[in-house]
Order: sequence, then C-alpha cells, then structure tokens
Amino acid sequence: MFKRYEGAAWEERFLPRLTFPEIRALPKDHALVILPVGAVEQHGPHMPVMTDSLIGEAVITRTLERLPEDADIWLLPPLPYGKSNEHLDFAGTISLSASTLLNVLLDIATCVKRSGFRRLLLLNTHGGNMDLLYVAAREIRISTGLMVFYVSPGSLADLTDLCSEEEREFGIHAGDYETSLVMAVKPDWVLPDKRVAEFLDVGDFAYLTLEGKIRFAWVMSDISETGVAGDATLASADKGAIILDRIADALAKALQEISTFEITDVKTRPEKSIDKGCS
Ligand SMILES: [Zn+2]
Repeated sequence: MFKRYEGAAWEERFLPRLTFPEIRALPKDHALVILPVGAVEQHGPHMPVMTDSLIGEAVITRTLERLPEDADIWLLPPLPYGKSNEHLDFAGTISLSASTLLNVLLDIATCVKRSGFRRLLLLNTHGGNMDLLYVAAREIRISTGLMVFYVSPGSLADLTDLCSEEEREFGIHAGDYETSLVMAVKPDWVLPDKRVAEFLDVGDFAYLTLEGKIRFAWVMSDISETGVAGDATLASADKGAIILDRIADALAKALQEISTFEITDVKTRPEKSIDKGCS
C-alpha cells in the first residue's frame, strides 16, 4: 500500500487527484488554487535539506483539514525546488536560478488560467524565494489576468510568547522556529545532538540590518559558519506543534477570505473619494 498521499488535504483537495472532466466541471468563481513553493537547501548540521519543502507540505496538510467541506480550495503538487543559490557553498543544496523559477511559476500559472481558474496563491516557505515571488506574482497578474496572492505562512503566527526577540529578528534559518516545526512533524529527520546556536553580529550598525531598511546582499557563508542563523538548541517538538496549529488556524481563515476576494472591488470610485474629503 502506497501511503504518501493520505488525509483530507491529499484525498479531498489535491487537484491532480481528479480527472480532467472533473476538473473542467469544478465551480471556479470562488475557487482558489494553491501552489506551495519550498526549497531543497542546507539547514545546518541537524536538519534535512528538505526542511523548507517539508514544512510547506506539513502546513498545507494541516490547514486544509480545517476547511469547511464546501470550500472551493485546491492544492497543486508542491514545487520542492526554490531559489537557494545563497546556500550553494553547502552540499546538498539544489537551487533553481531566478530566471528558471520565474519561468516555471509563469508556466504553471498559465496552465491554471487555461484550466479555467481565477485565483492562484503562492505559498512560500523559503525566505530566499520571497523577493522573486513578489516579482512573479505581479508578472503572473499581468500576463494571465489571474488574481494572484502571496503568503509566507510563518508570518501568520504570533511567536512572541514562544521565541526570543533575537530569534524573531535574526533567527532566519534553521533556528528555533524551523527546527521546532520539523521536530513536530518529522522527528526522526532531525539530529537533536547536532543542533547549534549561531547569530550574525550587526549590533554596531544603526542603518545596516539583515532585512531592514538598508540591506546588504549576502550568501549564507558570509553570515554563518554552521549554516544556521538562529538558536536551534531552544527548539522543541511541543513548540513546533503549537506553531503549526497557530499557522493552520490563521491560514485556513485566510484561504476562505482569499476565495471571496474580487480585485475589481478594491478600487474606490472617484465620487466616493470626493465625498469623503481629505480630513
Ligand atoms: Zn528554511
């Protein structure tokens, strides 16, 4: 018995599980198609290079279990590879180039549109994909007319009571947050004794920050010896389970909101603005 595709997400909402006449007949007005985009890249000495893609699949699996039965929300096969060239100094990193990933996303979106859908969500679990996905989302909007949405699901969970301030600001890779999640969903894939803590040092700079107002371009070997940016030693499976629950709760609600969104409703008509005045 082949066990990979189990549970509501994969049995009930996995679009390519259906036949083409079934897909053709689906109601599309409020349908949302989700494309998870992950990465295969080093995640320190303690976690698998599959980490980001694994987290994306775990998040969407848990989230789709929480949807009401009548939600028109569909999952595409997750794209395991992302743009990870900042990690190429570490073995096991398999990266697409920026132009390849952009073209793959455009091709998939074009087919989503041709199948009759109107909304596409890019669900991203790798920080290094972010800038490109913002560009891709707009390019898809322009070239296909689809309504396109973007989310990094980690941003939906409040972590203030779970992770330190330092971790929330600088724990961008293989630290407490990601390690806790993988310990929760695939404990045997983590080597707990190999966990380390490593933070980069930008304390003396007022303007230069890692992801703030003035940024410097970096690759991982510029900012980390171990491939970790964060404190993986603080991670626990319990914490990961709480984080996953919070993300799934918020994302399930967000998906339903997105499927009611119509971009034509966003623009305010001029007479309304004039009525309101400036004050
Ligand atoms: Zn990661």
